[in-house]
Amino acid sequence: MSKFWSEMAKRAEPYVPGEQLAKKNIIKLNTNENPYPPSPKVIEAIQNELHTTNLRLYPSPTMDELRTTIGAYYGLDKANVFVGNGSDEVLAFAFMGLFDPGKPIRFPQITYSFYPVYAKVFNIDYEEVPLNDDFTLDVERFFESVGGVIFPNPNAPTSIYLPLHEIERILEHNKDRVVIVDEAYVDFAEASAATLINKYDNLLVVQTMSKSRALAGLRVGFALGNNELIKGLIRMKDSFNSYPVDRLALVGAKAAIEDETYFREITKKIIQTRTWVTEELQSLGFKVLPSQTNFVFTTHETYPAERLYEALRQRNILIRYFKTKPIENYIRITIGTDEEMKQLIRAIEEIIL
Ligand SMILES: *Cc1c(COP(=O)(O)O)cnc(C)c1O
Repeated sequence: MSKFWSEMAKRAEPYVPGEQLAKKNIIKLNTNENPYPPSPKVIEAIQNELHTTNLRLYPSPTMDELRTTIGAYYGLDKANVFVGNGSDEVLAFAFMGLFDPGKPIRFPQITYSFYPVYAKVFNIDYEEVPLNDDFTLDVERFFESVGGVIFPNPNAPTSIYLPLHEIERILEHNKDRVVIVDEAYVDFAEASAATLINKYDNLLVVQTMSKSRALAGLRVGFALGNNELIKGLIRMKDSFNSYPVDRLALVGAKAAIEDETYFREITKKIIQTRTWVTEELQSLGFKVLPSQTNFVFTTHETYPAERLYEALRQRNILIRYFKTKPIENYIRITIGTDEEMKQLIRAIEEIIL
């Protein structure tokens, strides 16, 4: 603490991201990045932008082209789309623009650990709703919230998907408050709640290019929702930074959305890998939660999670471990390439058998 800090800075409890090691030869399965490169069309679009326009010029403050492209993909208008510098920034604007101090919001007790970080820094009270014993969301406990609701679907780090009809029940019981569904992993799951936007004016869907589009390094996220909600986010952005998304990111993200064939191909590969990895882990005595994401959340019947995490680290394989009850005996493993996952399974066999 410094005497020079504002009250806001003193109050902050910053998020700690998974490590990004500079070391070579590590198998990195700790931050849910895509193991495949982005679409070649993304690289081409960025190169074209570098050659044909000048980085001397500011990018578009309204981001109309990218918003139109994303909107078209979901059958929505650009007025229903907000774009930000990664979905973490979109979420920050949503906390600022759609939630209020003094009106407690609700999110799951086990969830994306950025939510309490935003709540604290923006002084928003919150209630953490315990999960059911099987780690699914206890839907009714999200009804009639005072200040709003936010949860990821599928949830992180549990990987469990909540069907859309259950989301509709949460929306129905929070008519005058905003419900944010953070769909960082939805492309690996059954269906997006984006189809509900015309039906519920209180629904904000947040997505990212970082996971399924293999563009974590480009920093682009977006929100879909009723025009009124989107305007609220734009007010926050324009009170903070007129140009949060740079020229290269704007064209790269647009190309990524447009190359649907490539996107489907890599998504399918990851889901196939997830299937066989789940079976392998089960045969080694792991309980694996039913994943609809690009990671698995798992616990071994006898071998302690923290020891396994450490032992894999010794072998240059990074996974994620959270020392938090009731998940302190679980590990989260990002789905990598088939080759990486074969090496992971081999290493686990050496450690536990
Ligand atoms: C990865 C992730 C994000 C953040 O994504 P960025 O767009 O890279 O900022 C948001 N929410 C959840 C649940 C995530 O897992």
